[in-house]
Amino acid sequence: MHAADLVAAWEQGSDRTPAGRGECLLDTVGIDPVRGCGLSVGQRDALLMDLHGRLFGTEVTALATCPACSERLEVSFHLDDVRARPPGDPTDPVEVEVEGYTVRARPPTAGDLAALDTTAPWPDATRWLLERCVLGARRDGREVAVGELPEVVRVRVEARLAEADPQADVQVVLGCPGCGGTWGALFDIVSFLWQELDARARGLLVAVHDLASVYGWSEADILAMSPHRRSLYLELVRR
Ligand SMILES: [Zn+2]
Repeated sequence: MHAADLVAAWEQGSDRTPAGRGECLLDTVGIDPVRGCGLSVGQRDALLMDLHGRLFGTEVTALATCPACSERLEVSFHLDDVRARPPGDPTDPVEVEVEGYTVRARPPTAGDLAALDTTAPWPDATRWLLERCVLGARRDGREVAVGELPEVVRVRVEARLAEADPQADVQVVLGCPGCGGTWGALFDIVSFLWQELDARARGLLVAVHDLASVYGWSEADILAMSPHRRSLYLELVRR
């Protein structure tokens, strides 16, 4: 990706929700928002992992806090370690039969996440998402509203949807060298990728500032330079 495109994606996504940032990031690889919204969350995340690999490499480093002893630790893993293979097309609906209920549902899409009210309390957001993803529920030949489904049915449907789109919910097992405890943490590629993009874009704009102040070159010209040339001039300026 060209430096100018990277800065443009960062600028567009800066004041958006995580789902909106995911949209901006997909846009940089030629997936327009309409197509992006139709992808399952796992399909979107797999594409964002590819993008991370191309821009920032396939090794990911994160900071975590041990829930048992509060030790801060740095965790590194390879993106291939968190790749999940869906059993079929994750945008296809699944049918779940449990406790006499038959429920047809589809895994959440990137568009669902973009439409989700992120300020809503978590149980409400989960319910809202399920209502959107359930295509129909019946019992004894009668239509049943999502709100009327017993919890055991809702839990089973959610589990079945997670199985159909495993890349959407990847847990990384972390181990604490201090107390030996292990725990699972959600791997969120959007926030990982965004942090890297944020750092890179800010670094580029500081470089623009430093070079423009000395040479008077335009932002566009500085961003269009090869990284090698830009860093050589920066070395001269910052000496
Ligand atoms: Zn610990």
